[in-house]
Amino acid sequence: MSILKSLAITMAVSVSMSSVAGTAYAQDKGVVGITLPNKTQSRWITDGNNMVAALKEKGYTADLQYANDDVPTQVNQLENMISKGEKALVIAPIDGKTLSDVLNLAAQRHIKVISYDRLIRDTKNVDYNATFDNFQVGALQAQSIVDVWQKKGSKTPFNVEIFAGSIDDNNAHMVYNGGISVLKPYIDSGKFVVRSKQVTIEKVATHNWDGATAQSRMDNLLSANYGNARLDAVLCPNDGIAIGVISSLKGVGYGTSQQPMPAITGQDAEMQNVKAIIRGDQATTVYKDTRQLAGMAATMVDDALSGKAVPVNDTTSYNNGVKVIPTYLVKPVLVDASNWKTILVTQGRYYTEAQLK
Ligand code: BGC
Repeated sequence: MSILKSLAITMAVSVSMSSVAGTAYAQDKGVVGITLPNKTQSRWITDGNNMVAALKEKGYTADLQYANDDVPTQVNQLENMISKGEKALVIAPIDGKTLSDVLNLAAQRHIKVISYDRLIRDTKNVDYNATFDNFQVGALQAQSIVDVWQKKGSKTPFNVEIFAGSIDDNNAHMVYNGGISVLKPYIDSGKFVVRSKQVTIEKVATHNWDGATAQSRMDNLLSANYGNARLDAVLCPNDGIAIGVISSLKGVGYGTSQQPMPAITGQDAEMQNVKAIIRGDQATTVYKDTRQLAGMAATMVDDALSGKAVPVNDTTSYNNGVKVIPTYLVKPVLVDASNWKTILVTQGRYYTEAQLK
């Protein structure tokens, strides 16, 4: 066969292969394991689905698992992924400090490890980290409380209570630190008062970011400290916690024109919270475009496996206790009643307007 003829055959075969694929899913580059915390929060479902799609486009098959907020389940999922010979692992840990042993196994098999959204701590066996700027998330939340206070005439004392996320999640600390960095001067100067005096992360953390746990803590805070006083703002680290706090406040009569809701913050732009913002029950949330994060994780996997330079934009902030993990930070955006439509519907196409009715 002439060289030209064999070239023509090769070209014809490759043309027909790519057109059969239609969607052009390159070659089969292997399986990537993904384990995410839970399916109870819709953000993780969106993260998972977007990662599966982004990896598929790059030629990988995704093995997507949810761990039901249970550490042994997550470890077990990872052991299975490693024993099946998966090429890379994308992990949003439930407890950032519990994966050292299983990641030793991954390292022995040269499996690439990407820490997804939450930092994996206390092990050198993490290659990259894709997350949002978590300090900035907390700073945006707290600044939105300051803005409400100023808009209402900067009256003092302004009574604020503070919630944090799960103490075993590195993000809870970063979000808390960002929030406190903004609130501290106001608390120190007496402009803002935390009547419960519960301020340290140990005192204000919420195990597993659980809304019901937050609700019962809010019940206790209200009955012990707000018999006659009004609560003006609640720093809530995410939308699930905000929902618990809102229910508690409604239970004692907040949310009417005589007794309006305190300014409540959140994170994730969950659908029910955006509706709460539109209704006026919640002041703000922080929108994090999980499609961007999922796309970045898929790029990191592909570049790391093909020996290319992996995109990172922060090489200082994410020290996991053993080393600084090269990180790509995506920018969070504050959403409130004035901009939800532009940010989430018109520009972001995260929701349709009909979904938020
Ligand atoms: C994430 C938040 C999420 C929380 C609870 C954090 O690590 O960054 O987006 O709301 O976990 O799942």
